[in-house]
Amino acid sequence: MLNLRIPGPTPVPDSVAQAGAADMINHRGPEFADLINRSTAQLKEVFETKNDLFILTASGTGGMEAAVANHVNAGEKVLVVTVGVFGKRFVEIVRVFGGNPIELDFEFGRAADPNRIEEILDQHSDIRVVMVTHNETSTGVTNNDLKIVAEICRSHDCLLIVDAISSLSSIPVLTDEWELDVVISGSQKGWMTAPGLAFVSCSEKAWEKNAQVTSPRFYFDLLKAKDYLAMGQTPSTPAVSVMFQLDKALEIMFDEGLQNIYARHHRHAQMTRDGIRSLGLELFAEEGSESDTVTSVRIPDSIDGLAFLEIARSQFGTVFAGGQGPLKGKIFRFGHLGFVTDEHIQQGLSAVEKTLQQLHS
Ligand SMILES: *Cc1c(COP(=O)(O)O)cnc(C)c1O
Repeated sequence: MLNLRIPGPTPVPDSVAQAGAADMINHRGPEFADLINRSTAQLKEVFETKNDLFILTASGTGGMEAAVANHVNAGEKVLVVTVGVFGKRFVEIVRVFGGNPIELDFEFGRAADPNRIEEILDQHSDIRVVMVTHNETSTGVTNNDLKIVAEICRSHDCLLIVDAISSLSSIPVLTDEWELDVVISGSQKGWMTAPGLAFVSCSEKAWEKNAQVTSPRFYFDLLKAKDYLAMGQTPSTPAVSVMFQLDKALEIMFDEGLQNIYARHHRHAQMTRDGIRSLGLELFAEEGSESDTVTSVRIPDSIDGLAFLEIARSQFGTVFAGGQGPLKGKIFRFGHLGFVTDEHIQQGLSAVEKTLQQLHS
């Protein structure tokens, strides 16, 4: 079997895979109501929130689209803070819904500077919505100042929408304590579950905004999701098998304990960073902002980045992710989120070493 070291989809434990093979149930029946109520309550614990939370049948991008469709009006100015490719995705979605994205771009590899966010909000007093990526998977950077960003948004009366797709469950996100209004994650990142589900939490302030927004939404209408969840259901047929998997994965996660999971991710990230440096390679993310879920590594000029990925996969059984957009061929990304053991990291580092040797021979 290949060692899948990409930042999603991530490996699922056997017991989780098997849980997904169970017989179908009626999604309008009592068994499903038990399932969705249990999973929603457990997800809220991981999100550290008492806010409403919805399990949508969609990839993470669907969760992002739901956040925009429910909270952004056509013609409305939105501050989109971008530190990589996924931040840019928010810009595109806002445009599609007729919004007016004000982009605050930071150089790829760097984290967002909250002072710059404050400057823009001071300049544009009509901005009511801010979007930020917590963990930028394309560059391996975590915006560790999320709490400060949230404070700035609050003092400027702005709703804060957070893409926490590749951080939640692996890196602490304190939704209520930091007062994050809309928070998004996705099943195939740190949740040890197959792709197919997005999770979105909404604060009271988000519901107030929602009521003033007239953007078109049908499948991603969160108010409808709320009405159905009150009955233990979803508006349309959910990905029942993936929800079976999620139920099992959450059981495993609570057995391990959230703090232990965070500590394990930090330790594995440190192991990966140390190992990469000791092979003479350079990290792409600026020091202090390196992500605990994905490590981005500069590919030396002497090496063909695409050949590196191909040899690691075909000869050393390890799948790394390449760079996206402008980073294609310039970096590779080593995923260490979700179901990860020390052996996975060691095997991944060994594959990097052997691939480099092969390319240099
Ligand atoms: C993976 C990811 C997305 C996109 O999620 P999909 O499930 O591929 O739609 C968005 N943002 C971040 C930070 C991600 O890691």
